[in-house]
Amino acid sequence: MIDHTQRRVSAGTAGGFDVWSTQAAAPGPRVVILGGIHGDETQGVLAAGRLAVDETRLTRGRVDIVPVCHEAAFQADSRTSAIDGGNLARVFPGDSSGGATEQIAHHIFTEVLSGCDLLIDLHTSGQGYDMPFLAGYQSDTTTGDSLAKHAASAFGADFLWRHPGRSEGRTVSVVDQAMYVECPGGGSMSPASVDAYVVGVQRVLAMMDMIAVGPSGPARAAVHVTGGGDLDRDMISVRHDGMFVTDLMSGTNVEAGQLLGTVVALGGQLLEEVHAPYEAWVMAVKRRPPVIADDLVVCLAIAD
Ligand SMILES: [Zn+2]
Repeated sequence: MIDHTQRRVSAGTAGGFDVWSTQAAAPGPRVVILGGIHGDETQGVLAAGRLAVDETRLTRGRVDIVPVCHEAAFQADSRTSAIDGGNLARVFPGDSSGGATEQIAHHIFTEVLSGCDLLIDLHTSGQGYDMPFLAGYQSDTTTGDSLAKHAASAFGADFLWRHPGRSEGRTVSVVDQAMYVECPGGGSMSPASVDAYVVGVQRVLAMMDMIAVGPSGPARAAVHVTGGGDLDRDMISVRHDGMFVTDLMSGTNVEAGQLLGTVVALGGQLLEEVHAPYEAWVMAVKRRPPVIADDLVVCLAIAD
């Protein structure tokens, strides 16, 4: 006997969100799947939505899915809230008496995330940046063993990205065992990316013995990298206002000193060259050319 339910959680002035739950008769772990923490990251929304109505035969435990966490941002097709400008991925665990975005975080934290055994947060590169297909988790050591690491590894992404320390305000920082994924997109919707997310979640559930039949074949080997990974902080910035011009592809390996891109004036005059400070993998590239000084343009991670 498998129980499917859908409920609406009200979050005061901020509106609310829908939670889809599947509960197996047999006890087991509780896994939470989130989409749409950033409103313009649509692959994760569609993948979570498909998983929410999926007939996957859960054999034990419980899965709770929120396909659109930040409705105010999703409806505006924006990374941040159209109500208060808030970035939902920076305000966890939230505040019940705070602004609209903090209220949403508070309700997701207390009514969905709290007490879960594993969080899978489905992000994508959104409109501003391009990123490779990656699964990230937090751990201070390369040798540490955790459910989050096993889950990120089982997901089958091209990169497995370990983040030392905890980034303030993110979903993965308020849950003990948590992983997130990113994929290429730049704002458009790739059906293959949505399929890869659905299959990735099913691989994790199979690894946790929560579904009887998972996707066939082993997950492909990922490149292991480490680094900060906060798109609002841990990136190479430019020093000039102008246009950032690059043909750099996310997911490629660059050598120390390699040219990553240039900043040019409107007449094409070179203002600045941006070079790789060390050998690394390119984990994010700014896609829209207009920049002002201190804008973040490239994110690098080193081999782990
Ligand atoms: Zn995101």
